[in-house]
Amino acid sequence: MRLKRLADLKKPAQREIPLADLPHEIRITPFAREKAYTINKLVRAIHGQSYEWYGFTLAWRRQPEVIVDIGLPVNEKNQDQYVSLAPDQIAAFREALPKAMLINGWIHSHGDLALQHFSRVDAANQATVLDYVTAQLWLPVAKVEVAIQDLVCLEEGRWTEADLRPGSVTLITDVPVRTARLWETEYGGFCFAIVIGDDGWHDQEIHYKKRGILSGRTFVSHQSANMRLVPDGRQLTPSDREELEEAVRTRLSPVPYIPAKLEGL
Ligand SMILES: [Zn+2]
Repeated sequence: MRLKRLADLKKPAQREIPLADLPHEIRITPFAREKAYTINKLVRAIHGQSYEWYGFTLAWRRQPEVIVDIGLPVNEKNQDQYVSLAPDQIAAFREALPKAMLINGWIHSHGDLALQHFSRVDAANQATVLDYVTAQLWLPVAKVEVAIQDLVCLEEGRWTEADLRPGSVTLITDVPVRTARLWETEYGGFCFAIVIGDDGWHDQEIHYKKRGILSGRTFVSHQSANMRLVPDGRQLTPSDREELEEAVRTRLSPVPYIPAKLEGL
């Protein structure tokens, strides 16, 4: 028997029907953006020099794709490298949030560092935040056909345990069935990541995670994204600024840069 061309042996592509779209740009209110850069200024004013800090980007639960505020958790001191995020830190911060709000990502500053992009350390932190944040933002994004080899169809009341041995998946139905197709819901979530610097620069990415409810197939991806300002009328007031000063004073611990150790980060 002659083999067909290899290309002909490929399995047909899985069919997929989109149900919802995850964000492709980062929308942020002027209030939240100003707050982020104000933290940078306050760090220099209060602690005498620049250093890295991180915070969470916050959204209203009813509109999770718009950043409306920045939350500043207690940043742990770490002399060797940029502070690392742990799930329990994220959970503790979330517990203190009003019910109507959720964390939709994280933001951190490189202060006056020359590195105006995400670093490898950032990528490790990102994985932690992504797991946590997507768990809060899970929504059905697609219906995907599950390719099943050796599907066995049995009829209710007319099978024995021995009938369950063959096949990779067994479907038991109340009427005789010869073929069946199975579609699973794919759930997806996103997480924003923003890095800023003292000079006013910023870089940002959106991270995605998708998982098939039946197959458990998980996909993680990320892409660069534009940041778009969406005014909501809120201004940073003198009392907001006072509150922020107090947070910068009490929740951040100065960690001076040690340039030699930042190599390769
Ligand atoms: Zn970084």
